[in-house]
Amino acid sequence: MNVRVGITGAAGRMGRILVEALSAAQGIKLAAALERPDSSLIGADAGELAGQGKNGVIVAGSLAEVIADIDVLIDFSVPEATLENIALCVEHNKAIVIGTTGFNPKQQGRIDAAAKRVPVCKASNFSTGVNLCFKLLDMAARVLGDDVDIEIIEAHHRHKIDAPSGTALSMGGVVANALGRDLAEVAVYGREGQTGARDRDTIGFATVRAGDIVGDHTVMFAADGERVEITHKASSRMSFARGAVRAAAWIAGREPALYDMQDVLGFRGEDSK
Ligand code: NAD
Repeated sequence: MNVRVGITGAAGRMGRILVEALSAAQGIKLAAALERPDSSLIGADAGELAGQGKNGVIVAGSLAEVIADIDVLIDFSVPEATLENIALCVEHNKAIVIGTTGFNPKQQGRIDAAAKRVPVCKASNFSTGVNLCFKLLDMAARVLGDDVDIEIIEAHHRHKIDAPSGTALSMGGVVANALGRDLAEVAVYGREGQTGARDRDTIGFATVRAGDIVGDHTVMFAADGERVEITHKASSRMSFARGAVRAAAWIAGREPALYDMQDVLGFRGEDSK
């Protein structure tokens, strides 16, 4: 049976490409498309918006109207909208795949609470390549450990509204965990003026916002005499969309828990949660 998916932010950069990814996927199909209630695109055909030709799914302005038609919601929108949607998913016992980034700790707490009631898959980056990089970063941090300075450099398009990227923060989290450090204590976000010498324990973040860059991330492990750099470059949003569709197919029918792409890809061992 096809898993029925709803997409919020269906007219956004990720929403349109998710519609395209779903049109090519097996065993899963687009059943609802959502936009902001005040969007001029309410009533438009979601397939047409995605440049795919009409698919008969009409963009709705309220999740409540269509929630009975879906099994899983894929949400790449804005934090406030995602939190409203997750509350409705809990009420109607629907799984949710969250790609939105930029949640504050209080908002993350609400997601954690919802994941006790319904299955939630949240990832700052749904691409397979980035999730492989998380594994490589864990290994690199454990081997190179306290002998190196660690810096994370990310670049994204000019429209991105949060910084550093959710992916950069996740990469910092992986490295900090591997080294037994608390990212909140050791992160340094940008430097300016008389900063003093670098403290070895810190993990530095640098952000570039320019042009149409889809998403570049480099984690640098720099010692005296050599350095290792692990880099991922996304050239198309399709890498995120395919991963999110894979997550939606995987999460349908799972037990309530907070999953991420490491679970979907089996990096933690199938059914470990
Ligand atoms: P975008 O601005 O192009 O699209 C967001 C869409 O959400 C817009 O069309 C907007 O109208 C819509 N929206 C806002 N409020 C809404 C509401 N209440 N109901 C329904 N729709 C609503 O942004 P984007 O580039 O598509 O990115 C969206 C989010 O996804 C961002 O947080 C971004 O950082 C994140 N993102 C995550 C990944 C990942 O792999 N996790 C990859 C790319 C982007």
